[in-house]
Amino acid sequence: MKDQRLIKKNERYTVEIIDLSYEGMGVAKIEGYPLFIENALPGERVEVLVLKAGNKFGYGKVESWLTKSPARQPLKDNRLLRTGIAPLAHLKYEDQLAFKQKQVENVMSKIAHISEVEILPTIGMDVPVGYRNKAQIPVRRMNGRLATGFYKKNSHDLVEIEDYYIQEPAIDQAIARVREILQRFQVRGYNEVKNEGQIRHIIIRRGHYSHEMMVVLVTRKEKFFKGREIAQVIHEEIPEVVSVMQNINEEKTNVILGDKEKILYGRSYIEDQLLGKTYRISAKSFYQVNTQQTEKLYQTAMAFAQLEKKDVVIDAYSGIGTIGLSLADRVKKVYGMELIPEAIEDAQFNALINKVTNVHYEVGKAETVMKKWQEKGIKPSVIIVDPPRKGLDHKFIESAIEMSPEKIVYISCNPATFARDARAFVELGYEVSKVQPVDLFPQTHHVETVALLQRH
Ligand code: SAH
Repeated sequence: MKDQRLIKKNERYTVEIIDLSYEGMGVAKIEGYPLFIENALPGERVEVLVLKAGNKFGYGKVESWLTKSPARQPLKDNRLLRTGIAPLAHLKYEDQLAFKQKQVENVMSKIAHISEVEILPTIGMDVPVGYRNKAQIPVRRMNGRLATGFYKKNSHDLVEIEDYYIQEPAIDQAIARVREILQRFQVRGYNEVKNEGQIRHIIIRRGHYSHEMMVVLVTRKEKFFKGREIAQVIHEEIPEVVSVMQNINEEKTNVILGDKEKILYGRSYIEDQLLGKTYRISAKSFYQVNTQQTEKLYQTAMAFAQLEKKDVVIDAYSGIGTIGLSLADRVKKVYGMELIPEAIEDAQFNALINKVTNVHYEVGKAETVMKKWQEKGIKPSVIIVDPPRKGLDHKFIESAIEMSPEKIVYISCNPATFARDARAFVELGYEVSKVQPVDLFPQTHHVETVALLQRH
C-alpha cells in the first residue's frame, strides 16, 4: 500500500515552535501534524529534518535556528539533551520554574476540572546544578575497555559521559574512579545482547550533609573474582566510601537491581541528615535525590498541615520514615506504612536513633494497610501521602475517606495522577485549598507538587 502520509522521514521543513511538551521537546505543527523537536523552544523558527514520521506524530532534529528564544540559555553539552539527563538544560532556570507551574495549572484544569485554586509559583533551587545525591550508571565494554555514561534516549546505546551536570561532582568523580579500579582488576563489562560479562551498573549514593558514600556494584554472577579486594581498594582510594555492596542480577532485563545483595566492604547503609534528624538509608530503600529541595518540600507539607499536639498523622508511602519523623515531635502519634521491608526496617531504626517513640510502622501495600487501620478504628486528623508515579489506588482513597481526616496533604511526583486523585477527593467532600510546586529536579522535566486538601 502506498504511504499516504503528508510528512515523511528525511524531509526538511521550516517551522515555528508553538509549545514545549511535558518532556521538554519543542512542538511544531505542519498542517496539523505534530512534530516533536529536541533543543527547540517556543517562539523559535527552525529548519528541521524529519527523523521519524509515525501515523499521528513525528520526531525532528534542528538543522539550523532562524531565530532564538530569549528564554534560551547556553547548553553546556548536547549530550545532556540527547540522553535525557537534563532535557531542560537549554531553558533559563526562571523559565523552567514557570514551565512547571504551568504544567500543574494544565492538569488541574484539564484532568481535575478544578479552576478555583491558585497554583503557587514553583519553589526553585538557589544553585540548580550538581544536586543529585544518587547515580545509577550502566557499565559496558567499548573499544576493549570499560565505559560509563548514559543511554541515548529511547535506546540502549551508551553515550560516554564524565560530567553529568546535575549530579554532585563528588559522585561524578567516584564513578570514574570505580570504573578505573574495575578496569585494573580486569572485571568484564556487561553485554546486554548476549547477557554475558560481569559488571552491569555502578550505583552511588552520597549523604548530602554526611558525605558518606555507598557504592553498589550490580553484577550478573554471584561469584565475583576478587570482589572483596576490589571493594577494599575502592574504600582506600575514595575514603568517603563507607559501604560497598554487591547486588546480583542474573536476568536479561532492563530492571537494574536483582533481589540478592551482599556486603563487600563496611556496612550495608549510609547515614545522612534531613531537617536536623539523622537517617539510615539502605541500598534498596527510597531516598529523595535532592536533599536541599526535599527539606523545602517537607517544610511546605508541614506548614500546610498546620500541626497541633492533638493530631494523629498517617505518613503513607513512608519510605525510611523521613516525613513522619520530621514532624513526630509536634503531634500525638504517627502511623507509617511502606511496601519495601528494608525501608521499614530503616524507618524503625531511624525512630530509635532520633529517640522518637510515638511512631508505629508497618510493611505492606498502602491500600491494604490503610483498610486494616480503618477497620481497627484508627482516626487520623491528618493523612500525608507521597505515592510513586502511578498515584493512589482507589481503595486507598476509599479507606482514607472513611477515616474522615480534616486534612490530606498530597505530595506528588506526577501531576497527572495527582490531578486524577484530587478529582476523586473533591467528589467525596474535600476541597483543594493550596497547590505548591517545588523543584526537586532542576534541568529536567520532572514536576513535584505539594497540595492541601481540606474536608468541607
Ligand atoms: N515519603 C518517602 C518516600 C516516598 S517515595 C520520602 O519522602 O522519602 C514512594 C514510596 O512508596 C517508596 O518508598 C516506595 O517503595 C513506596 N511504595 C510504592 N508502592 C507502594 C504501595 N503500593 N504501598 C506502599 N508503599 C509503596
